[in-house]
Amino acid sequence: PEDRAWLADKDHFIHPYTDFTTFQQEGSQVIREASGVTVTDTGGKAYLDAIAGLWCMNLGHGRTEIADAMGEQARKMAYFNTFGHSTNVPASLLAAEVAKRAPGSLNHVFYSTGGSTANDTAVRLIHYYFNRLGRHAKKKIISRNDGYHGSTYFASALTGIHGVHLGFDRISQDLVHHVSAANLYRRPAGMDEAQFCDYLVDELRQRIHQLGAENVAAFIAEPVMGAGGVLVAPAGYHRRVAQLCRENEILYIADEVVTGFGRLGHWFASEDRFGHVPDVIVSAKGISSGYCPLGATLFSDAIHEVIAVPQAPGGVLSHGFTYSGHPVSCAAALATIDIIERENILSHVREVGPYMQTRLKELLRHEVVGDVRGDHLMAGIELVKDRERRINFAPDSGATHKVFVAARQRGVIVRPVGNVIVLSPPLVISKAEIDIIVDTLHETMSEVGPALMAS
Ligand code: PLP
Repeated sequence: PEDRAWLADKDHFIHPYTDFTTFQQEGSQVIREASGVTVTDTGGKAYLDAIAGLWCMNLGHGRTEIADAMGEQARKMAYFNTFGHSTNVPASLLAAEVAKRAPGSLNHVFYSTGGSTANDTAVRLIHYYFNRLGRHAKKKIISRNDGYHGSTYFASALTGIHGVHLGFDRISQDLVHHVSAANLYRRPAGMDEAQFCDYLVDELRQRIHQLGAENVAAFIAEPVMGAGGVLVAPAGYHRRVAQLCRENEILYIADEVVTGFGRLGHWFASEDRFGHVPDVIVSAKGISSGYCPLGATLFSDAIHEVIAVPQAPGGVLSHGFTYSGHPVSCAAALATIDIIERENILSHVREVGPYMQTRLKELLRHEVVGDVRGDHLMAGIELVKDRERRINFAPDSGATHKVFVAARQRGVIVRPVGNVIVLSPPLVISKAEIDIIVDTLHETMSEVGPALMAS
C-alpha cells in the first residue's frame, strides 16, 4: 500500500503550494508514522520534524491522550450540527476554556475549520457588526504586505505575499488595502528600529486618512509574521498601531493562527508579548495541536453585544460551516489545553525558545546567511547571495529548496519559504533536540552555502 500511495499521489493528488517542477522530478515523500518530534517516511527513515507538521503539531506527534479524547468523542457522538439552538458538549466547554485564557473581554468564540475560514469569519462578522451599527460604509480592511492569512478567496485577498497571487485574480481589490511589512531587516537605509516604527505607524496613519477612517473597518496583522518570512516587528509597533486603530474606531484583528496556544510562550501573544488587547483574535493550528482541523475566531464583549442583539433587523447571524464546533476537533482542543497546563508547556517554551534563538544566531557565521530572527519557537533564516547589500538569490535558484533537501538528507525537516528557512518545532522540543537542528543546519550551510555562492 505504501508504494501504491506514492504512485496514487503522483497521478491524482494536487498538493497545496507545490512547485510542480521539483514535484515532477522528486515526487513526494510519504510520511508513514510519527512520534514526539520524529516523523518516519515509508522508506523507514526517521527525521526530526523542525516545523511541527506545518506550525501546528505543538504537543508533538503520537499523543495518545489527544487521540483517545478524539476516539472517545467519535464513538460517543461524532457529529451533530451547532446551527441555531443545537450544540455539543466539547464545543460549548471549549468556548469557555478559550475565553478564560483570552486577553481582555474576548469572551466569545465562533468556530470554523481552520485559519482561512477563521479569518473569513473575522471579516464577515465585523462587516455584520458595522452594518448593525448602521455604518454601512465602514468595510475596508487594511492588511500588510507579506502577511499570510490563508487560501480561501477572501483570506487570500488579505494575504500580502506577492507569489500567492500569481496566476490568480485578485478579488476584493477595493476592500483590502496593504501597508508595509514590519521587516526590520529590509527597513529603509539609515533608519534605526525606533525610527522604522515611527515610519510604519505614520504610513498606516496616512493610509487611514487617505481611505477615510469612516470607510475602514479593521486592521489585520500576525503578531509575528510567519509565512512572510518570520518577521518580528520593531518594539512598540503593535501597541502603537492598536492605539491608532482605536483612535479611528478601526477594529484590530490579531491573526494568532501560528502564535497562539504557546508558540511564543503564552496562550496568546498579543497581550503577553506585545502589550495590547485586540478586538478580535483568530486562532487555528495549535488550538487542537494539529490533531484535527479547527478554527476559532474570538470576539470582544463590545462586538458581541452588537451582533447578538435579539430581534434587531437581520437578527439571524447567517454565517457558519457544517463543521463549526465539530465535536471531535473540540475534544482534541480540550485535551490540548489540558496537556499544555499539566505539562507546563508555556514555561517550557519560555525556557527553550530563547535557547533556540541564541543558538540559531551562530548560523550567521555562514556567508550565505543574511539574517537570523524570530521569537521563542518561531524562527527564520534568510539566505542572501550578497550579505553586504542584502541581496537574495534569484527565485529560480532554488536556494532554500536546496537547503531543505540537504537538511532532510541529514535527518531534519525544515521549511523553505521564499528566501527564508523557517523553523517552528513542536513546543515539547528539548534543548538537545534544538542542538541537533542547529548542528544539522551548520553542516547543511557548510555544504550548500559555498555552492550557492559560486552559482
Ligand atoms: N493565518 C496564518 C497566520 C497562517 O499561518 C495560516 C496558515 O499557515 C493561516 C492563517 C491559514 O490557515 P489554514 O491553512 O488553516 O486555513
